Amino acid sequence: MVKLLDEHERTMAFAEVALGQIKSLRQTAVPRNYEIWYVYATGYNAPLNKVINETLARNGTLGEADLEQIYETYLSHIKTTDRIDKVGARVIGEIDDVMRLITQALGMSANYDVSLSGASQKLAGVQNRDQLKAVVEQLVKSTREMQNTNKALENRLSLSKSEISNLQHSLEAIRAESLTDPLTGLGNRKYFDRSIEAAVQIALASGEPLSLLMFDIDHFKSFNDSYGHLTGDQVLRLVGMSLKQTIKGQDITARYGGEEFAVVLPNTALRQALTVADHIRRAVMAKELKKKSTGEILGRVTISVGVSMLKPGDDTDALIERADACLYAAKRNGRNRVICEVDPEYAADQHSQVA
Ligand code: GH3
Ligand code: MG
Ligand code: MG
Repeated sequence: MVKLLDEHERTMAFAEVALGQIKSLRQTAVPRNYEIWYVYATGYNAPLNKVINETLARNGTLGEADLEQIYETYLSHIKTTDRIDKVGARVIGEIDDVMRLITQALGMSANYDVSLSGASQKLAGVQNRDQLKAVVEQLVKSTREMQNTNKALENRLSLSKSEISNLQHSLEAIRAESLTDPLTGLGNRKYFDRSIEAAVQIALASGEPLSLLMFDIDHFKSFNDSYGHLTGDQVLRLVGMSLKQTIKGQDITARYGGEEFAVVLPNTALRQALTVADHIRRAVMAKELKKKSTGEILGRVTISVGVSMLKPGDDTDALIERADACLYAAKRNGRNRVICEVDPEYAADQHSQVA
């Protein structure tokens, strides 16, 4: 069972790692750099960590331009559409530049061709040493020119190559963002729909087990009504964080909708899935909610969880429907509990709905 650190200790640990990095790389401790290293320390933004690790491995440090680029790409809160526009414009600009270079290179190579055939004609008519010398000098001159142009072209293309690789990172970040729920940082519904479909197909083909958890915050409406929507949003973030702390590796976590979350567990049979579900339930319940602005203690929230497991011949919709029905059974049977499809409560619920 995962030992839950107190929120203060946990965030202090991230803060210390962040400051440690700033110190050891002798960077300025401005909020932008602190935010970059704090997020790095949490490990929640995998593309950010990847690009930082790659840059450190390559250059041993992060320069001002790297930090700016990383912040803009992975952390700035400019709207995705604006960023797509910006990256789009840079892609078009880069393609224009490369096309111009290619045209220039083709022109140079045509000139060189002309000068080679001219030289070969002149060679045929050469009558003395001086004439031969002149032809050879001309040849050497145009070859040098060609060499210089090639060198310039190579340098410019290598700049383009690194710009294109930056653009690639920006596009990857935008893509990841379009699949992320901005409030919790978990996958969004689009991400969930895609990932569960792929995971189900793999499980059906390989015969490996696969389980699905769906959970919903209990009495969240009354929480929102009592403390306001912004505090409600803080609770959603906290639930998202409990989920991230409990779930690791290949498991797929997402905000399914409003205050409902889903976790796909590949290679996981029902029994193990129930343990994971109970970890999440306990992790959420363990957190004491405190209003940020006033420090007022708001108590705790609980969740109800439904768990289903893929059967041979099953499909994604049926799997989701069964998890959802189990979740409904958990609500009807008192909330703050986990119900799976072999539990008598689920069977009783199904029965009462048919009757
Ligand atoms: P139950 O235990 O049966 O799930 O009761 P509930 O009150 O949680 O369920 P209900 O479906 O009645 O209410 C869900 C509420 O969740 C409605 C809305 O106020 C709140 N909600 C949904 N999305 C958001 C969100 O993005 N932010 C906030 N603050 N609240 C949300
Ligand atoms: Mg609810
Ligand atoms: Mg709900």
